Amino acid sequence: MMGKLLYDILLFDADNTLYDFDACEKIAFRRALDAAGISYAEGMTETYSEINVGCWKRFERGEITREELTRLRYALFLERYGIAFDALALNGLYVGFLSEAAILLPGAEDLIRRLSAEASVYIITNGLSRVQHGRFDRSPLTPYVKDVFISEELGANKPDKLYFDRVIARIPGFERARAVVIGDSLTSDIKGANNAGLHAVWYDRSRGRERPDGQVFDARVTDYRELLRFLYREGEET
Ligand SMILES: [Mg+2]
Repeated sequence: MMGKLLYDILLFDADNTLYDFDACEKIAFRRALDAAGISYAEGMTETYSEINVGCWKRFERGEITREELTRLRYALFLERYGIAFDALALNGLYVGFLSEAAILLPGAEDLIRRLSAEASVYIITNGLSRVQHGRFDRSPLTPYVKDVFISEELGANKPDKLYFDRVIARIPGFERARAVVIGDSLTSDIKGANNAGLHAVWYDRSRGRERPDGQVFDARVTDYRELLRFLYREGEET
């Protein structure tokens, strides 16, 4: 139906690129509060989400470790609401529920099934190991994905060049010209691709709310149709 794929090694980010992380987070967060006996108040999900994003940015910049991140996000949340509860215990509950939540973005399964027929699809994720394993064990994407590279297991994180070096070392017959990173995060996916000298497609889900800060990419897409249009050379339909 369409032309030839521009790249046949596709490195997909997971959260908010293929998985609806926002929906998974919301569900897991509410369940964790319930399990902890903390009563929900208006706006708590948004507050937690903001704190969590801030903590992940600090982690990406190398300011805090993964262990510090998991404690800090809940410590800050509990402090904000003046709730006395163990931050690590609450995080443990949350991570458990998050590993059971595997909500894909609409169209993600079709997209990956289709691309996997002509290309090697890999997942590159900074997500927690326990969460990613729980999720991929029950994911409809699993049969179409060649490998899942979880930063916690590779000993390096996006956007570090070392993370991508290790990913590249694990892909048989890897060639830079044939590979592309596809992700929603400018600070981890696109910056990481830039650090590693890889092609990149920015999946701009927020459609312009976020602005590049020095990151460069081969294409900016706002939905899967645009992504397909870019990946299959426009104008070379057969
Ligand atoms: Mg993401």
